[in-house]
Amino acid sequence: MNLLAASATDLVRLLESGDVSSVDLTRVFLERIKSCDTAVHAFASVTQEAALAQARELDELRAGGKPVGKLAGVPVAVKDVLCTKGQLTTCGSRMLASYAPPYDATVITRLRAAGAVLLGKTNMDEFAMGSSTETSFHGPTENPWDRQRTPGGSSGGAAAAVAASMASLSVGSDTGGSIRQPAAFCGVVGLKPTYGRVSRYGLVAFASSLDQVGPLASTAEDVALLLEVIAGHDERDSTSADLPVPSYGELLSEPLQGLRIGIVESHFAEGLDGEIEESVRRAVAIYEQLGATVHPVELPHSRYAIATYYIIASCEASGNLARYDGAHYGHRTDEGRMLEELAEERRLLVESGDADGAEQLDGPLVRMYRRTRAEGFGDEVKRRIMLGTYALSAGYYDAYYLKALKVRRRIRDDFDAAFQQVDVIAGPVTPTPAFPLGERTDDPLSMYLGDLYTVSANLAGIPALSLPCGLTASGLPIALQLQAPPFEEARLLRAAHQFQGETDWHTRRPSLVEES
Ligand code: GLN
Repeated sequence: MNLLAASATDLVRLLESGDVSSVDLTRVFLERIKSCDTAVHAFASVTQEAALAQARELDELRAGGKPVGKLAGVPVAVKDVLCTKGQLTTCGSRMLASYAPPYDATVITRLRAAGAVLLGKTNMDEFAMGSSTETSFHGPTENPWDRQRTPGGSSGGAAAAVAASMASLSVGSDTGGSIRQPAAFCGVVGLKPTYGRVSRYGLVAFASSLDQVGPLASTAEDVALLLEVIAGHDERDSTSADLPVPSYGELLSEPLQGLRIGIVESHFAEGLDGEIEESVRRAVAIYEQLGATVHPVELPHSRYAIATYYIIASCEASGNLARYDGAHYGHRTDEGRMLEELAEERRLLVESGDADGAEQLDGPLVRMYRRTRAEGFGDEVKRRIMLGTYALSAGYYDAYYLKALKVRRRIRDDFDAAFQQVDVIAGPVTPTPAFPLGERTDDPLSMYLGDLYTVSANLAGIPALSLPCGLTASGLPIALQLQAPPFEEARLLRAAHQFQGETDWHTRRPSLVEES
């Protein structure tokens, strides 16, 4: 059996029956990373020794007849935005290039407790700000389907790792589409859970009211398996919901007969790629064959979603990123050189007779902050901090931030109203398939506009899933987005699973995988 092509659910069975050991399986994936990742660059760091040690321990537990967790032995990759104790957590930033946190994120604790073998940390846009993984300090990740193209972002590494069979499952984070858009570009399933479904403790914060951790995998069944492990209340995250976690895996087969699917016609307006429109409409037709009914719904305020999102996300980011000051942790500028330069500036001013000017120069502390942040952050992060600081400043707060909060409320109300009429909303995930690397790096606005279909779910806090539903003529993945009311992840997973029972898009692999 080709272990790399097996689903995580199959791997669990093979491990349970003893057909393969955790150590052997881990080696297969580590070998795959070795042969594949110099090209794809999905990983920021690979924790080979720790992974093998974990696998060995699991094999011993099993041999001793001890109980093991739900994911025992399954190789998992985790976005480099989740804190891993004693292991690098860089967030794709020079600011955290050598940061090894003293604690595990709750999601990591749960993965370890379930016996998942952590292969390493995946590449991402710096501090999760971006849609292409190109703002990473480690350099871009390539799309396994076409290496000239982006895997999407910010969880580009997490999606590419699963697409190229370098990990069976991966964990990403989604603030405005960062799980769903890379899942769409890489032909895997990605789920942004309801805000509060998964703990954010130990997730490096970007925009705290929007951030959510979620699973990526080749099948809906595997996403369900992983969600069951990572979801649930956490007293360390006051925004995590104190609700029981359903057995998602057991609910996958409930028939779809009578499922009401909402379609937002404005999603198919100008700007949507023709092949994507066709595949999405075809996917909806498959749902009709499965017994679902289709209804038009409206989300009138969604046209403001991009503007609203980029104001709110940037405002929150500017606050969250204030902690990187060189004093607590992370990068700190070379103070020796800084002090020499300060002395030189002073000397020149005094020599030129400007003693007052010399007096007024910023002192070492302010300089340390400024240089640390100038050196540690990349351009996109600086852009967000400036946007956010501006929008929050006195005189603009009401016009931008407060207004955005009000629109956010309307967007949520639109969803509430739509979900009175339908059970899920179906549409595209992205306006275009994976775009070429470099195409949008100099044009932030066009990068932002690509988030058109994904950001509303974060603003409304609802769960949303990206599901492979086609390939373009040139062989790039196309995806369908399904959105549901809060805490209805089971509904999304069930719909996705049954779609996968009727179609084989999820079994397609990039040729990079077939060749090896
Ligand atoms: N692309 C969006 C942004 O750049 C979303 C990122 C995310 O979800 N982390 O902000």
